[in-house]
Amino acid sequence: MKLNIGVIKGDGIGPEIVTEAMKVLDKTSEVFGHQCCYTQLLMGGASIDVNGVPLTDETIRLAKASDAVLMGSIGGDARVSPWYQLEPSKRPEAGLLKIRKELNLFANLRPAILYSELKDACPLKEEIIADGFDMMIMRELTGGLYFGERKTIEVDGVMTAYDELTYNENEIRRIAKRGFDIAMKRRKKVTSVDKANVLDSSRLWRKVVEEVAADYPEVVLEHMLVDNCAMQLVKDPAQFDVILTENMFGDILSDEASMVTGSIGMLASASLNDTKFGLYEPSGGSAPDIAGKGIANPIATILSAAMMLRFSFDLDKEAEAIELAVSQVLKEGYRTSDIMSGGNIQIGTSEMGDKICSYIHA
Ligand code: NAD
Repeated sequence: MKLNIGVIKGDGIGPEIVTEAMKVLDKTSEVFGHQCCYTQLLMGGASIDVNGVPLTDETIRLAKASDAVLMGSIGGDARVSPWYQLEPSKRPEAGLLKIRKELNLFANLRPAILYSELKDACPLKEEIIADGFDMMIMRELTGGLYFGERKTIEVDGVMTAYDELTYNENEIRRIAKRGFDIAMKRRKKVTSVDKANVLDSSRLWRKVVEEVAADYPEVVLEHMLVDNCAMQLVKDPAQFDVILTENMFGDILSDEASMVTGSIGMLASASLNDTKFGLYEPSGGSAPDIAGKGIANPIATILSAAMMLRFSFDLDKEAEAIELAVSQVLKEGYRTSDIMSGGNIQIGTSEMGDKICSYIHA
């Protein structure tokens, strides 16, 4: 199979970690008989340096022409970088928001996995995480409170702020379908999180999710109120498979879930639209403090590439081979400095990519 992949290496550690992910993709393609064709795209600070803007129409066109886009992180150190002397709409992060909007990326996926080898980094007690956990947070990304109308006006002499929270049934249905499709590739359980005891938008959310669930008889659906979910994530994280939720609840819960896994360098993410297209990137930023030192952890980007194979190309076996190789390398005790603990072997970014490649098998 030929895989047309747009690549945004990005800023800071971006080029270092994306290079390793491409190395792993190439090795996986070689082992399984595929061919990766990369188109390099400029975005963020790198694009400002060349084009004066963080995202050009040409980059958008080329991204749309690709089957999927793999991205490192973008941005720099706002205290010293000249990019942050520009007006907000011309800074690196503006490119990120624009590309998500242009590509209609309404579904954000963040896996939160606790590898047994990295239990030390987890802030939860041993008895809670005895068996580890592996959940997927599926967050609606282009609707809800963050996209509603807002205003601050004086009402009877009192300053009053309004933020509108709206969801229509189509927005809910498309993300719910995505959630159930993904559950079918996992342990077939969806926990839909809302605040249906208070909010109308949540009551509609729950109704539409139930309608969608009827088309997926193999998937177990449960509803959970968001306040309870926040507690359950630290009380019994292993109960979750796919958490399906709206924009603001997902924003908060995905950060909570990622913190309990311990390390930012391990966290992959994907943003999908209603085709097979997706933008795949690590959850962390461009880490300007360690850029160019060859010590960044490339695993989040490598796992994002595995998500790309699974969700954009339906190459499940290939994705699994990468995930198994990552586990194996951790089992053997190889660590980048951010996840280093006593008794393990510290290696750099490029060596980590090489080690993971060496464990990729059909
Ligand atoms: P950051 O995630 O870049 O760094 C936070 C800490 O985590 C730093 O100590 C960093 O060294 C460490 N870290 C992050 N990724 C790592 C990795 N792969 N391996 C080892 N250590 C890692 O967050 P920040 O410092 O707040 O942001 C830096 C820049 O990144 C800013 O310009 C910010 O806007 C941008 N940013 C971009 C994205 C994105 O591209 N999606 C996301 C978040 C932040």
